Amino acid sequence: MTDSRVEQAARNNAKWCDDVCRAHGTSGEFHDALWFNRHAVPRFYPNVVTLTQGGTAAQLETIQALTATGLPGNWGVKDSFNTLDLTALGFQPAFEATWLWRETSIPISKPATSGLRWTYIQTELELAKWEAAWTGDLANYSSTPPPRLFPSALLANPEIIYSEGEQREEEGCLSLPGFRGSVIRPLYVTMRAQDVTGKSYEMRGEGLLARAFCHEIDHLDGVLFLQHLSMLKRDLIKRKIRKLRKSGDW
Ligand SMILES: [Zn+2]
Repeated sequence: MTDSRVEQAARNNAKWCDDVCRAHGTSGEFHDALWFNRHAVPRFYPNVVTLTQGGTAAQLETIQALTATGLPGNWGVKDSFNTLDLTALGFQPAFEATWLWRETSIPISKPATSGLRWTYIQTELELAKWEAAWTGDLANYSSTPPPRLFPSALLANPEIIYSEGEQREEEGCLSLPGFRGSVIRPLYVTMRAQDVTGKSYEMRGEGLLARAFCHEIDHLDGVLFLQHLSMLKRDLIKRKIRKLRKSGDW
């Protein structure tokens, strides 16, 4: 698999981890070379997902800094490119896995098992059923069942149902007038939303529109474009805003 595809896969996976974390009330942070969540994460989910094949020095440095802060509970790193040696930091490999890629141009052959179908989960009941399908029915647990991994808040996530490619452009925000920063976004995005009558519809955006979908959906999740900037750049902007506030210009 070419590097950019693995990076797309890793980024897509980090996005999913972030969505699940957010549904549990703790969002992570996207940085140039990795995504991380400094809070406790749902079981089976990592605190760190590396996003780039290069930049291992920066990744190691961040992971080291995070371990030093003493994160709550056990925590894991998804070393997406198998490039980090974390044994010195006390990590043990849990398992190794492989990224797989399939071109969308390849026609889909008939599924081996009849009755298999893709379906979108839209209601709390469907979500609970889906989770029960792989955890086993919660009613069968003699002791306390494990907490739900996929709470209904996951459904409230604005739906970017497909994203592809990558674009790096300067981004700004009306909530932060005068500040801009370089943010990586997907080049193509398909989003699903509901109109005022509750009817679901889909829209595909390319370039600036794809960026706008991501930016605005981020707002709904309480995420500003600042959170997609490098820590250095973000702190610089925050310092400037603090200064402006002090002088009464903000
Ligand atoms: Zn904005």
